[in-house]
Amino acid sequence: MILDCAIIGGGPAGLTAGLYTTRGGLENVTMYEKGMPGGQITNSSEIENYPGVTGEITGMDLMMPWPQQCQKFGLKHEMVEVTRISKDGDIFKIHRNDGVVDEAYSVIIGTGSRPRRAGFAGEDEFFGRGVSTCATCDGFFYKGKDVVVVGGGDTALEEALYLAKICNKVYLIHRRDKFRSAPNTVERVKNTDNIELVLNSVPHEVYGDAMGVTGIKVKNNDGSTRDIEVPGVFTFVGNDVNNQTLIQEDESFLCDVNEQGQVIVNLSMKTSVDGLWACGDMRIEAPKQVVSAAGDGAVAALQAISYVDELLNS
Ligand code: FAD
Ligand code: NAP
Repeated sequence: MILDCAIIGGGPAGLTAGLYTTRGGLENVTMYEKGMPGGQITNSSEIENYPGVTGEITGMDLMMPWPQQCQKFGLKHEMVEVTRISKDGDIFKIHRNDGVVDEAYSVIIGTGSRPRRAGFAGEDEFFGRGVSTCATCDGFFYKGKDVVVVGGGDTALEEALYLAKICNKVYLIHRRDKFRSAPNTVERVKNTDNIELVLNSVPHEVYGDAMGVTGIKVKNNDGSTRDIEVPGVFTFVGNDVNNQTLIQEDESFLCDVNEQGQVIVNLSMKTSVDGLWACGDMRIEAPKQVVSAAGDGAVAALQAISYVDELLNS
């Protein structure tokens, strides 16, 4: 059977594409998600900017009902990693990591992004043993202890606020004295007694023993250094897009991407390849928000419905 639409990724973009394609009349739609559906927002401890959702709500709470809503309209979920998407004539091939190759008339890709490493000494060695990129996953291990947070964007500041509620003290290390984060979040951080700002500074080396991290050496832009003894270091220094499934056997990309590897799309989320749409955090100029990723997914789905209809009935 050839799928009407294959959706790659089950974050806000992929799930919304799944909802709109199935509810809009496409009959055979499969969403490929290598983990639990929900996407990276499920790692967030607090969402306060999803329209209509008020009160204290975690990313997990927000995303929980989305797959159920899609299943009601017939979306199928394959819990499998897609390794490559290729195209042969009008048919896309979905290469899966279990060796199976599925076929589809159209593809909507929303594989999002992944946390970047900051690049200081010891970061890889101690990753998972004191160095983490997920406060909601690992914060509890540092209850009542001191931790370091690295970064100056929304993620770093929001997660510093979250950790400040659990931990004794949070050192927030940022390489400048201006933050990328939203002004009200910066204010909240500045007004939190147990967050100490360590500005104009970068991590130099995280060190520890067989049990894990015991501290971090920090270099200030003025040349001075500081040693902060902590068992936990959380890094939130941005993300890289997950575009690996678009890489072909000859190393070229299936569709056009920019220098950062973000997929080039038009306002309809259409890529340079007919029948292929890209949405959410992986596309160019993405606002990187749940609401915009969901919006992208809806736009792509409406386009895919018309495309498949024309392809099969012309
Ligand atoms: P993702 O959410 O990244 O989902 C992509 C999915 O694709 C993942 O589930 C992944 O497992 C899957 N996948 C990837 N590759 C493959 C493959 N090869 N095969 C199968 N599956 C694959 N936004 C807000 O609006 N408000 C917030 O408060 C907010 N807080 C945030 C806090 C944190 C800690 C983080 C990290 C992000 C936050 N964001 C927030 C941003 C928001 O999470 C993203 O903009 C949004 O999740 C993007 O959705 P997406 O569907 O494009 O990608
Ligand atoms: P980001 O906005 O790219 O911020 C990354 C931060 O890490 C920057 O402050 C950057 O410093 C710093 N940094 C980068 N590389 C570094 C390195 N090697 N060493 C030390 N510091 C380094 O990433 P993000 O905070 O993860 O946010 C990603 C996107 O998701 C953004 O668009 C954001 O708005 C969105 N998001 C939104 C919300 C929300 O709406 N509530 C919450 C979370 C995320 P410089 O500032 O000096 O470049």
